[in-house]
Amino acid sequence: MMPPSNIDAAFRPPPPPPAAGPLGLYLHVPFCFHKCAYCDFYSITRQTPQRMARFVDLVLREADLWLQRCASPPRLQSVFFGGGTPSLLPLQEMHRLIDGLRRRFDLGDCTEWTIEANPATLSLDYCRMLGESGVTRLSLGAQSFDRAELAVLERHHDPEDVPRSLDLARAGGLRRLNIDLIYAIPGQSLAGWMDSLRAAIALGTDHLSCYALTYEPNTPMSVRRRLGQVEAAEEALELAMMRAARATLADAGLPAYEISNYAKPSRQCRHNLLYWTGGNYMGLGPSAASHIDGRRWRNRPHLGEWEIAVQGDALPAMDVESLSPRQRAGELAMLLLRLTRGLEFDEFSRRSGFSAQVLFAPAIERMGRAGLIHVADGSIQLSDAGLSVADGVAAEFLAAAAAGSGR
Ligand code: SF4
Repeated sequence: MMPPSNIDAAFRPPPPPPAAGPLGLYLHVPFCFHKCAYCDFYSITRQTPQRMARFVDLVLREADLWLQRCASPPRLQSVFFGGGTPSLLPLQEMHRLIDGLRRRFDLGDCTEWTIEANPATLSLDYCRMLGESGVTRLSLGAQSFDRAELAVLERHHDPEDVPRSLDLARAGGLRRLNIDLIYAIPGQSLAGWMDSLRAAIALGTDHLSCYALTYEPNTPMSVRRRLGQVEAAEEALELAMMRAARATLADAGLPAYEISNYAKPSRQCRHNLLYWTGGNYMGLGPSAASHIDGRRWRNRPHLGEWEIAVQGDALPAMDVESLSPRQRAGELAMLLLRLTRGLEFDEFSRRSGFSAQVLFAPAIERMGRAGLIHVADGSIQLSDAGLSVADGVAAEFLAAAAAGSGR
């Protein structure tokens, strides 16, 4: 079947992924058994085994469409299955998907293959299959260990599902484990947040992600807030929770390496570091984003439209953008400032071709004087005060890159 003409019109083929160099692969599995109240990731909740099997067929076909553009199979440094709920794919389909990708890509340099999972979905057979198929890392969406908070978020799992899932993952051979937590949940106290944090630490994973609840437009949570049915946490409480997480996790041997991410030494998520250092990644599946050498786009965020495009042998991309060198430099600065190691001048100049000291001179001066950044030893880091207004600091650097002069 041919794709609708608007898909053709929206898409100017981006360059093929480079055959050499690190490339990350992100695959978006758009199925969930329930839509959580705060979530604005693309997923559908009514699916059948047949639709999931068709999804696997088509995502492999989408990979083939890419590979036809490459002189040789791209070398992947990392693979990440997100969603949605990747662990909702039936065991045979997940196995077929992993096997299909392994046959198509060069995985010689790939040291990390992560799959996100819902704590209510895993079995020992499933975890064994993942481990035996080469998956190295499991990321569990725990969010909270408090039943009432899980209910506010409309998460459909129990706190006990988290340790049970981690035991299954370890028994299946998955050694690198992450727990996702959310703080600033309506009604959550600082003490309640600390209880969840300590419960997560006690489970001994090598990585934790802690995100403040955000009220994305048009989610049920945002509607409830507008109607006065839930009250967002005060900004001061949210900041106290973030600071408590940083201190508590550092004491537990999991220092922050990014604003929201914490890991034991050398256990940082390689795939996410690729995003935060302006690297190249390719997205497969509906709504997945891609970035190759300053061109970026996203796949159609609709399963039906994505299916029609791929069935018609068209790449299902939209919103293709070419970033100017200055835009790339500004965005790179914004991403690097999220990292604890910050923006290192040498790395920045190697990756962007610009001198950070020249390009951002007024912003560095202003932010430094306001106490929002530290500049020392050839790098810039957010200060403690800067962490609480990180988006504002990033915006200053973006604006400075757009307006700046010199290289
Ligand atoms: S399980 Fe994850 S992707 Fe699915 S609705 Fe909940 S938060 Fe969103």
